[in-house]
Parts: sequence; C-alpha cells; structure tokens
Amino acid sequence: MPFIITPLCVLVRSTLVASSVPRIMATRHNSYMALFKESLKSAKNVAIVTGDDISTESGVPIYGKTSFWRKYQTSTLATSGAFLTFPSLVWEFYHYRREMAVNAQPNEAHKAIALFEEKHGKDKSITVITQSIDGLHSRANTKNLIELHGSLFKTRCIKCNDVVPNNDHPICEALANKGSPDSTDTNSDIPEKLLPHCSKPSCTGLLRPDIVWYGDSIDPSVIQKAEAVISACDLCLVVGSPSLLFPAAQYAPDAMNNGAIIAEFNNEMDTNSNYHYSFVGPCSVTLPEALDV
Ligand SMILES: [Zn+2]
Repeated sequence: MPFIITPLCVLVRSTLVASSVPRIMATRHNSYMALFKESLKSAKNVAIVTGDDISTESGVPIYGKTSFWRKYQTSTLATSGAFLTFPSLVWEFYHYRREMAVNAQPNEAHKAIALFEEKHGKDKSITVITQSIDGLHSRANTKNLIELHGSLFKTRCIKCNDVVPNNDHPICEALANKGSPDSTDTNSDIPEKLLPHCSKPSCTGLLRPDIVWYGDSIDPSVIQKAEAVISACDLCLVVGSPSLLFPAAQYAPDAMNNGAIIAEFNNEMDTNSNYHYSFVGPCSVTLPEALDV
C-alpha cells in the first residue's frame, strides 16, 4: 500500500483550509486522493517545491550537514573558504557528485512533474522550485524551473563571476577517474592550472561549481522569483519537506498562510505536519498517481 494517511492530515483544519475544500473526514485512501485531485483540478497557480529527497530513488546520494566524503564532513568542503584553500580537493568532491548525477536517470517522480507541466501548462501556471542541484528535473524536461541552490552543471568564474552551463564529462582531463569517496588517499594535489578555468581569453580565472555553499547568499533575483511564485500560488506541492532548508522550508508555510492548499509527499511520515494533504511513500509512486500522469 503506497500511502499512509495521517489522522492529523485527514482532519481538514477549518481555520486554515481554503473554502473550496469541503470539511470532511476522509477515512479511505481513494476518497482522500479524489479530494486532492479536485483541489488540483481547480488550482490556477501551482508551485511544486522539491528537496534532494526526490533524487534518492534515482540513486543520487544526499550530502547534508552530517554526511561524509572520505574523511571529510561534507559541509566543511562546501564553503568558499575550503575551495579557495583546497581547490583540488573540493573539485574532486564535486567531480564525483557530477559523475553520480550524470550517471543517474530522472525517476518517475521527476517525470510525473514534467508531464504534469506538459499536460496542464497551458491552463495553469506551474513552477518547480527546487533545492536539488543534480539537474534531474531539467533532464526530465521540466521547463519552468527555479534552482534555488544552483546546479552541479553550471560553473562560476571566481574572477569575473560569469556563470555558464557545463556538461563536460569529465569537466577537465585532470579530474578523470578522480573523486572516489573510497580513496584512502586523503590528499588531493591536482595543480590549480589543470583545474577548470574561465574560457574568456581576457579572464582565465579559476572556475567553481555554481552552487550555493554554506555561507553564500542565494542570488536575490532567484529569491524574488521564488517568492513571487509562492505568493501567487493557490496550490503548493512540497516534496521531501523534512530535508528542506531555509528559505525553501518556509515556502509551504508561507503559501498556507496566504490561503493556498498544501500537499506534501514524503518518504516517511512527518508527525509535525499540519498540511491539508500528506502522502507518505516513495515519491515515484505517490506523485504519478496524485498528478494523474
Ligand atoms: Zn572569468
């Protein structure tokens, strides 16, 4: 059985629910899903907020604050300071992550979101706001996409700040066959001149992954776009809510305060949730059914 319905979420909360949702107690999966589908049908502005969790079923590992690559806590590698001090080591880590992402395939959850946009994009405004950096939403063909934390497949020059897409594989010859998390070699000594550099002849600065690292700020224009989507939405789907960080973690509560209906899709039950709909199970199963694609 793919869904577990929490009693908390089945009881539709009268103070927070838009008037279009009947105040009922749904006791069976089918009626609960049917009710969600009615909300989906009548929605005009749909925001879909996704976290890294959406890619776990594609085999892409999640690197959070407490994870490790080799002997390093990954949050200590994901900073501008670490990059400037140890560019070779940090590029090995991100080369490994690029390789993992490029070898993964969009799963049924990514595909369902993209198909939903393709099917209903003419009569609804549909925007995906993602914290994921692995590019799988784009590869599934999602068009209207805001990548809050940047992308593994874009680079930024540390000298001229130029941001460009980069799908080279490997990104440079010196990184070929590097980056294994199992390596016992904790040193990384690729000379800086062999790491990726800006292609502008007038610049040639060192390139870094265009990712929002710890201590970095998200581009204000990206935040502005995401907030406009959240303010306008009447239905917000949130996928992998426990793994979202601020500001993404705040988007569904903000949308709910504005009167939007919220549906969450999580692998595990979030007992703190008070959203209107909560579908628990693999997102590759719950999303295609909920979105009817
Ligand atoms: Zn440059």
